[in-house]
Amino acid sequence: MHSDIRVCSNWEHAHERPVYTLGDRCPKCDAPAENSAPPPFDPTDRYGEYRRRARPDGPD
Ligand SMILES: [Zn+2]
Repeated sequence: MHSDIRVCSNWEHAHERPVYTLGDRCPKCDAPAENSAPPPFDPTDRYGEYRRRARPDGPD
């Protein structure tokens, strides 16, 4: 099944959660949108969890 759904490439900085779009740019912050596949939570990315834990939840 083919999917054209894209995700804001800057969502971790600009939003509290991934912002998906069918266009080329994020509808909320106008950052480039990138293909959502492979998924942002790639199980082979063993450092992803560390990055997410290390990143504070607040803005900036
Ligand atoms: Zn965005």
